[in-house]
Amino acid sequence: MTECPECEATIEPKPMIPGEIFSCADCGAELEVTTTEPFEVQTAPKEAEDWGE
Ligand SMILES: [Zn+2]
Repeated sequence: MTECPECEATIEPKPMIPGEIFSCADCGAELEVTTTEPFEVQTAPKEAEDWGE
């Protein structure tokens, strides 16, 4: 069973691809699919909001 690394909520496997980012339905944390067989996720790395020069 896959759990959210942030809140430990159960995450049901969905047809997603490795590298896909989605939000935990429970805590809203951004998660990244690492593998689909088995289905595993990790907390998505926060991208620096550096849009300036
Ligand atoms: Zn969560």
